Amino acid sequence: MTAERKGPMIIAVGSGKGGVGKSTLTANLAIALAKKGVKVGLVDADIYGPSQPVIFGTQGQRPDARDNKPIPLESKYGVDHLSMGHLVAPGKALAWRGPMAAGALGQLIEAHWAEDTQVLLIDLPPGTGDVQLTMVQKFKPAGAVLVSTPQDLALIDAARAGQLFDTAGVPVIGLVENMSGYACPHCGETSDPFGSGGVEAAAGRLELPFLGRIPLAMDIRQGSDAGEPPAAGDGAHAGAFHAIAEKLAT
Ligand code: ADP
Repeated sequence: MTAERKGPMIIAVGSGKGGVGKSTLTANLAIALAKKGVKVGLVDADIYGPSQPVIFGTQGQRPDARDNKPIPLESKYGVDHLSMGHLVAPGKALAWRGPMAAGALGQLIEAHWAEDTQVLLIDLPPGTGDVQLTMVQKFKPAGAVLVSTPQDLALIDAARAGQLFDTAGVPVIGLVENMSGYACPHCGETSDPFGSGGVEAAAGRLELPFLGRIPLAMDIRQGSDAGEPPAAGDGAHAGAFHAIAEKLAT
């Protein structure tokens, strides 16, 4: 809980670039925390490319509202969530200017979250635009998790995103390496399409904690697309998400 603001502890999940698995990580961390008994809410603030409705299988649902504020949707995984994808027609937010997008973030965060919500995870848009600035200045997260693939370019971008939090006095809880190593489902051989270990090395250089790595795996992608995130089950990759959630919970 922050000093300025009553309510759940806010943890932002950010990345420098899009497509590195930020939404996948946020959803699976939320589910893993819920399984540990933490009351979690998830805000999909990736206003220009909301993907949480697909991951949670709530696409096309419209939240009810009370006093002009939306009521977050429940999910079968025990994670209440709310996304711009639930509030506007697909693609509509794409034409928004920065201040509108930043205003939309406020609507999502100040929605009717359950009274007993302990943690609000925020799936930020990639990069360092208006939404992220509003996030750090107005809503002061208790901390931020940064996700990157092992490639140098994604790492440099993640470092830039890290500076945004630093400057605003928001502690970076740690870095996660996603798409780290690929185990071929046919021959079993592991290869590193994007390299591996780069994020851990960067965390060392930046003197930030390294929270763990998630492999590049077909079933992670398939599970997300099918509204069956891996952390909800007991498949091969659930453990990687649960281990990171454990570090967040402590
Ligand atoms: P971002 O939020 O950073 O834009 P997403 O979480 O939407 O990225 O992921 C982009 C795509 O990559 C999605 O199709 C997702 O299912 C897939 N993906 C993410 N992480 C993994 C992974 N570890 N293994 C396989 N596919 C992944």
